Amino acid sequence: MSDTRQRLKEIPGMDIILNYDWVQTWSEKIGRIRIKRIINQELNEIRKSILNDENFEFNAETFKNSCLNSFVFASRPNLKRVINATGVVIHTNLGRSLIAPEAVKAMSEIALCYSNLEYDLKAGTRGQRNSLIEDLLCSITGAEAAFVVNNNAGAVMLCLAALAKNSEVVMSRGELVEIGGSFRIPDIMELSGAKLIECGTTNRTHLYDYERAITENTKMLLKIHPSNFRIEGFTTSPERRDLAKLSRDKNLIFMEDAGSGLLVDGEIINLPSNSNEITIKSCLEHGADIVTFSGDKILGGPQIGGIVGKKILIDKIKKYPMARALRVDKVTMAGFEATLRLYAQGRYDEIPTLRMLRLSSDFMKDKAVELAEKLSHKINAEIRVLPVEDAAGGGSCPEIKLDGFGVSIKHKNFGAGYVQKLLRGLEVPILCGAREDEIVLHVRTLQKTDYDVVINSLEKILNA
Ligand SMILES: *Cc1c(COP(=O)(O)O)cnc(C)c1O
Repeated sequence: MSDTRQRLKEIPGMDIILNYDWVQTWSEKIGRIRIKRIINQELNEIRKSILNDENFEFNAETFKNSCLNSFVFASRPNLKRVINATGVVIHTNLGRSLIAPEAVKAMSEIALCYSNLEYDLKAGTRGQRNSLIEDLLCSITGAEAAFVVNNNAGAVMLCLAALAKNSEVVMSRGELVEIGGSFRIPDIMELSGAKLIECGTTNRTHLYDYERAITENTKMLLKIHPSNFRIEGFTTSPERRDLAKLSRDKNLIFMEDAGSGLLVDGEIINLPSNSNEITIKSCLEHGADIVTFSGDKILGGPQIGGIVGKKILIDKIKKYPMARALRVDKVTMAGFEATLRLYAQGRYDEIPTLRMLRLSSDFMKDKAVELAEKLSHKINAEIRVLPVEDAAGGGSCPEIKLDGFGVSIKHKNFGAGYVQKLLRGLEVPILCGAREDEIVLHVRTLQKTDYDVVINSLEKILNA
């Protein structure tokens, strides 16, 4: 016991530690308060070790190295660039869509300057931020009116609350989806105050199922795009046009949550003709009264939730108090507007998500060959180019597998899992695929500036 007390006494006090030269240097870089916090955590670990292990003693050198490691880590941003070599274009865990350079320019200008976010320059009076994008969104989708909120989950909740609170909303059991763990339609429905009425079965729902579920309390028919799953085999669901007609006949609202936000014809991004994906414009043409979608999935813009449709309904949605809680920030607004302008001009290859979906096989093969070649000069491992399966990903087009190219690297001593771990620990972390004992770099999702970083990092790690 007295020995434990003696070992605890050997730990220097905070005041002394804060005066060490190496601590002072870092204190300027990350701030005194955070330095103290980190040192405290380090000291707590040491005290715990002393109490739990009778052979453990304070060691100044070990303490210093451990602190320095923590300081370096604390000095780097928590949210940082990573390199996506997974071939999954819209990767929800990696920030979904990259934003077009032109949109980034607009975002940075609006962030750095005052703007007419809510000021009508013509009239010299207060304006509406939504008016900045409404006309563009209407001209691209053919809608009568449009509104944007923070994200699609918010858009769905707002529409349900504004249009169907305390009323029944009928939807198919085949569409009761959970997206990304936190967006569950039944939960969103409950939060909105609308009452969910399920009809049909998981694999088959007929028009008469909807018809029978309608009561005098029904306000809406809701269709949800099965963004991240697909039921295969014996399935049926009514055509949009038929749902729209039923809804008109019964004086209901027909709303669709389209999920990914396709603004261009499928061929433009090489979707197969039998794909389930449908443009926002077609949803409206087929009779949907309200359509919601994400801004950062296949649309390829910043995170927003788009709402388009009938003016009379959009007006109600805009005025609903919940809209204020979901409003879009000015920087996002600038980026979204700039992205829509690229659409209006048909400049699809300047929208990174669309560009990566459209890449040709030849282009990716050339990129893979070039990367493999450069790597083989730098690292001692088995390197080859191979065809790979990429994906659109991120709650869009689950059925669509994209053919891509990759570079596999097999190190004679390091297993794939170990190399992946090393790559994740880099200052610019690299995420990639793996198969058996080789890692696979998918080139589809590599950006121009990624290649040198990938080559240098792999050289550093694998030749170490
Ligand atoms: C992704 C998705 C959502 C959620 O959209 P966020 O923009 O992530 O809030 C809702 N519905 C469908 C069908 C989706 O695919």
